[in-house]
Amino acid sequence: MTIDIAKISELDRRSVLHPFTQLKDFATGKLGDPTIVETGKGIRIQDAAGKEFIDGFAGLYCVNVGYGRTEVAEAISRQAYRLAYYHSYAAHTTDELAILSDRLVKMAPGKMSKVFYGMSGSDANETQAKLVWYYNNLRGKPKKKKIISRDRGYHGCSIISGSMTGMSFYHDHMDLPFSQIVHTGVPHHYWGGHPGETEVEFSKRRAAELDELIQREGPETVGAFIGEPVLGTGGITPPPEGYWEAIQAVLRKHDVLLIADEVITGFGRTGSMFGSDRYGIEPDLITVAKGLTSAYFPLSGAIVGEKVYQVMEDAADRVGSFSHGYTYSGHPIGAAAANAVLDIVENEDLPGKADTVGSYFQAQLQAKFAQLPIVGEVRGVGLMGAIEFVADREKKTRFDPGLNVGARVSKAARDRGLIARAMPHGDILGFAPPLVITKAEVDELVSIAESAVRSVMDQLVHEGQK
Ligand code: PMP
Repeated sequence: MTIDIAKISELDRRSVLHPFTQLKDFATGKLGDPTIVETGKGIRIQDAAGKEFIDGFAGLYCVNVGYGRTEVAEAISRQAYRLAYYHSYAAHTTDELAILSDRLVKMAPGKMSKVFYGMSGSDANETQAKLVWYYNNLRGKPKKKKIISRDRGYHGCSIISGSMTGMSFYHDHMDLPFSQIVHTGVPHHYWGGHPGETEVEFSKRRAAELDELIQREGPETVGAFIGEPVLGTGGITPPPEGYWEAIQAVLRKHDVLLIADEVITGFGRTGSMFGSDRYGIEPDLITVAKGLTSAYFPLSGAIVGEKVYQVMEDAADRVGSFSHGYTYSGHPIGAAAANAVLDIVENEDLPGKADTVGSYFQAQLQAKFAQLPIVGEVRGVGLMGAIEFVADREKKTRFDPGLNVGARVSKAARDRGLIARAMPHGDILGFAPPLVITKAEVDELVSIAESAVRSVMDQLVHEGQK
């Protein structure tokens, strides 16, 4: 099928409200035409004009098994022909849903019991907040409701999940954050560490700050702490050494639940099946989405630990049925897609690949970028990584935001056929390629990124900024 690019661009400009797009610049054409993405295969996508890109971000860190996997498309098609939909209310199920749930409970870290399904990471985190409140109401602690999240944490953009997200531009002009959500410091040693402070000392300080925050708020009012094992949208930042151990000790002391938001880190991205496995996290609740279906179908899960679930079951005679559910909770096509994707994740050992190819990827990023005069930090784990650009390496000063260094590098990469994302909170270029990427493809990706970074470095010298 040939796409009429001019017509589709016009229809789009007239009718689509695009997320994260400067509306006037788009409406007036200043941003140019939309990119009409038409096909994908492996780690690459192609637009309607025939231009091919390496997708160094797997969509939005989600197409972990790569594009064009026919086995997933066939599983979706088979289920659509057999039974396109039935709900999971009042004890209805499908074979795909029951099988998927059993797999998830068994593969997830910690002592998990049940899975509640939604369609997005945001709605799953909305469910997690309700579960925290429900659990504490049912066990006679109705004041224990506040949820603590971190600055630069990302948990979604709905009312509660958007409030948990520790980025002010998700709140501004939209009446967030909601009052029950409290924020604590970002676990990023490069910017947050005091001079001479080791990572372990910094982690202990962050844990002490959390302890003080809980004491100040009143432990009887704090229900849960939510965190991504590795900060994603907040700049692809692995935790400093000792962080999760120190944080979990504080949470246990105050009887505060731990929600591991594994929307990005789940299903292999860090080189372990879950980020929690990698960092010794024992969550009470786990949020999954993205990699669960590799984005072939919208599906998310709030995985509920035994501790929380048992309180819910024990109270059922008293409170009646669990009154929470979406029309599409446990959608059979989503479940079929997830089972087909998990088959690939397991059969192709994608966590193992993310570990070995990921180590190579991290080593290449370090080798090519860490010593450049405009680079402050190169960081990452498994197949997620970031380069942070700074004006002065010694003094650790950022570039003037008006120079748009991160966005310029991202654009330069794109012009060279590589999608790598400019991330908020500084000048950061982020990578999270599909987990099926090979070493040869890593070389290709890194070499394009290097050419892009060097071109912007040359421009900055030319402009007298370096
Ligand atoms: N949690 C994390 C860690 C995420 O990265 C995201 C999405 N980037 C979400 C939650 C929200 O997921 P969704 O966009 O599917 O609502």
